[in-house]
Amino acid sequence: MPLPKAELHLHIEGTLEPELAFALAARNGVTLPYADTEELRKAYEFADLQSFLNLYYGLMAVLRTEDDFADLADAYLARAAAQGVRHAEIFFDPQAHLARGVGMGTVVAGLGRALDRSEAVHGVSTQLIMCFLRDESAGSAMETLEAAKPYLAPRGPIIGVGLDSAEVGHPPAKFAEVYGAAAALGLRRVAHAGEEGPPAYITEALDVLGAERIDHGLRCMEDPELVDRLVRDRVPLTLCPLSNVRLRAVDVLAEHPLPKMLDAGLLCTVNSDDPAYFGGYAGDNFRAVREALGLSPERLRELARNSFVASFLEHDEERRARYIAEVEAYEFR
Ligand SMILES: [Zn+2]
Repeated sequence: MPLPKAELHLHIEGTLEPELAFALAARNGVTLPYADTEELRKAYEFADLQSFLNLYYGLMAVLRTEDDFADLADAYLARAAAQGVRHAEIFFDPQAHLARGVGMGTVVAGLGRALDRSEAVHGVSTQLIMCFLRDESAGSAMETLEAAKPYLAPRGPIIGVGLDSAEVGHPPAKFAEVYGAAAALGLRRVAHAGEEGPPAYITEALDVLGAERIDHGLRCMEDPELVDRLVRDRVPLTLCPLSNVRLRAVDVLAEHPLPKMLDAGLLCTVNSDDPAYFGGYAGDNFRAVREALGLSPERLRELARNSFVASFLEHDEERRARYIAEVEAYEFR
């Protein structure tokens, strides 16, 4: 049995495996520029960020209907469950779909259908977080929030907002207004910061956006005062070790700062980001850091405990306590 954990940094569009991409392409009459799943699988061995983004956005063309989004989320939840994920807070990128004529209602209804039955089918509780693309305008983000209003919790599944895509040159402050509006609507707030961007983006995400969790955040280690603040305020960081290697935020996994970050007292979690593209799901990331960084069972238990501590489960503390009890009782073999 795998170690129980929550996944807090997972882009549902990044869970599209080659087999499902081809199945959805056939269903929707979309022609992919690859002969077969094997050739597409090779394209997943991209060399740099741009070739990843080209592939990532190109393949989204196969996602058209509610059923497509439901099948995508179902496939992820089945894989996550098999790797010990008990709770998943799932990101999606509505602007990437709106731009190709797929409406908010289609995306959210499809994802929502899979999320609604997830606990019964996969034993995984879920929440949905809508991300803004930071390389799009602040106005576009505001329009997206407006379009999402019928689907916000408690009526709909969306419990929070996030900020993703190309970081450098798009500081968090650009989105101050839309984060303010999201806060006024009672939404939780997270933001990618300090992955490729500087530590100052992390500070800005906290101060200007009111971010409650920082996605990635590994470059905080360049600023000791910021580390002190993150430790003192118990700000969770959602690290994605295999993603960091594939996108060259670190050269090799053995040099990942995770052990130093845990030693510093940071509230770190381990997640998969875009698992179909980055070489593994949540459990694969745990296995990779255990092997490459020699983390002890107690460190792994700390990471799993942290994932539930950092979850947005304030509406159900009994559930959080139950998950944490599972972590504490887990016996490493
Ligand atoms: Zn991410």
